[in-house]
Amino acid sequence: MARNPKWARDEIILALELYFRVNPRHTSDSHPEIIALSELLNQLPIHALKDTEENFRNPNGVYMKLCNFLSFDPEYGGVGLKSGSKLDRELWDELFTDRARLIQLAQSIRENHSAISRPGSREEEVADQEEEFPEGRVLTRTHKSRERNRTLTKRKKETVLTQTGKLACEVCGFVFKEKYGEIGDGFAECHHNKPVSELKVGDKTKLSELSIVCANCHHMIHKTRPCLSADDLKKVLI
Ligand SMILES: [Zn+2]
Ligand SMILES: [Zn+2]
Repeated sequence: MARNPKWARDEIILALELYFRVNPRHTSDSHPEIIALSELLNQLPIHALKDTEENFRNPNGVYMKLCNFLSFDPEYGGVGLKSGSKLDRELWDELFTDRARLIQLAQSIRENHSAISRPGSREEEVADQEEEFPEGRVLTRTHKSRERNRTLTKRKKETVLTQTGKLACEVCGFVFKEKYGEIGDGFAECHHNKPVSELKVGDKTKLSELSIVCANCHHMIHKTRPCLSADDLKKVLI
């Protein structure tokens, strides 16, 4: 029988945010917030459905995850469950002292997940995982879908073309048309500079939040964790 998939970054972020509101030492898996998180985790578009078992992220599983965090918590004198994963530890270290960011991330994931579809297969899930930002898969995909918004990128390109007469990468200055001739005419990618954790449902992306970039610079921007803005990358250009 297949085992339930490992907890993803988004799921751990949500559990960690709940941990600081609901202390597992003083409650059980029948706490309404634990049941609510179990239901939310079952809806998140992260794991391919057929790879999950019936007991996937049930209230007991969520409760146990909260208990895992006890062993990391300096404010808890006792010994927590020792089975916390490497990623649990990593996220604890990253967010324990940055509670405001933790709350913001959890809130953004809660707000944005329903606009995203679930991966259809294990392969798609792995592809999502490989492209994942530190903010998790839901926000990564929300960000990318905004960058791929045709209407918006078209308007951005038109504006820049009118203003400057060409589509030059804001980082390195590359112009596809100058290198590739007609094939490159009108070609450029757009990067959305707004931090992923600040994405809100229904927010309109402003043209000023988009940067024209070449494909190389765009890859480099997304390679860093958390990803850079076009301006940040320009500073590291040699
Ligand atoms: Zn470039
Ligand atoms: Zn981008």
